[in-house]
Amino acid sequence: MKIATKLTALGLALPILLSNHASAEGKLTVYCSVQNTTCEKMIQTFSKKYDIETKFIRNSTGATLAKLIAEKNNPQADIWYGGTIEHHFQAGDLGLFTPYRSPRQAEIMPQFKALTDKRGDLTSIVYLLVLGFGVNTEKLKQLGITEPPKCWSDLLDPRLQGYVQMPDPQISGTTYTAIATLIELWGEQEAFDYLKKLNANVSEYVKSALVTTNLSRGESAVAVGFIHSYATEKEKGAPVESILPCEGDGYSLGGMSIIKNARNLDNAKLFADWALSKEAQELVWRETKVYQIPTNIHAEASPQSVNPKQLKLINYDFDRFGASAEGKRLTDKWVKEVKLMK
Ligand code: PLP
Repeated sequence: MKIATKLTALGLALPILLSNHASAEGKLTVYCSVQNTTCEKMIQTFSKKYDIETKFIRNSTGATLAKLIAEKNNPQADIWYGGTIEHHFQAGDLGLFTPYRSPRQAEIMPQFKALTDKRGDLTSIVYLLVLGFGVNTEKLKQLGITEPPKCWSDLLDPRLQGYVQMPDPQISGTTYTAIATLIELWGEQEAFDYLKKLNANVSEYVKSALVTTNLSRGESAVAVGFIHSYATEKEKGAPVESILPCEGDGYSLGGMSIIKNARNLDNAKLFADWALSKEAQELVWRETKVYQIPTNIHAEASPQSVNPKQLKLINYDFDRFGASAEGKRLTDKWVKEVKLMK
């Protein structure tokens, strides 16, 4: 007997079964914090596959968190895909999400199992991001620098004055991860002393995408960011290389969380399950040439990505840096002690 017939015969769960199928209709709005091309491709593919009218609004991680806080009583989206996970944890801390533990979390890399067990009720880990520098080798040569910087301390070289760029952590998750990484490496006092000194070499704090294109154009010689962005630029022909700082491999994870009071909850769950799948995670690099590292154990990583087995990820306190009060304190401190001193 077919399962549906069997259930009908029992007078049981058919309505539930059907209501799950009904999720393959209707609408979905995604707040998307990955590259615009990736957002576009993912939304198009999902929409077609499940026949769900899906739209996305793209913003950097910090900007999306601010939007979610502002819209707390009237959410405008159903799910937040991508962006640094610290900000997802902070939003979770503020009560902005609906619990959903996707069965696909079982396919996430074992090194993130403990974190998934602890935080996976609200947030899933969709990719791994590795923090480092990008350098424009031609610009470095013009500046008389023959050895590219190897360590964070090398970015203080006075010859780099005006030629370093990093994103603004008020908008971008990348620099929040950088600040937290330096705190993990050296403690808060030393990390902020360093950031103040680095300020002398930084020309501008802009959006993360602009930091990367400015590096490729040679407007800057060094950028701080997630290194897969530089692999994409190099592939496009820019004289750009990526560097993993000697002090240890800082990192973040891509988060995904369903927004509280989502209007299209079933579709948001369907999207979450799909975004964690091998198919969706490979689509990111195969079709959009963005080389973040997939977290699904069955997904193949691009040859352009660093091999996660070769990384020595630093200890990273997601409880501390994912707490909303700490996020606000560190960002405000950076604005006051670093940015405003420009
Ligand atoms: N997710 C991906 C895949 C990224 O490449 C980046 C930045 O490079 C981020 C998230 C963080 O973006 P932002 O710093 O703009 O918040």
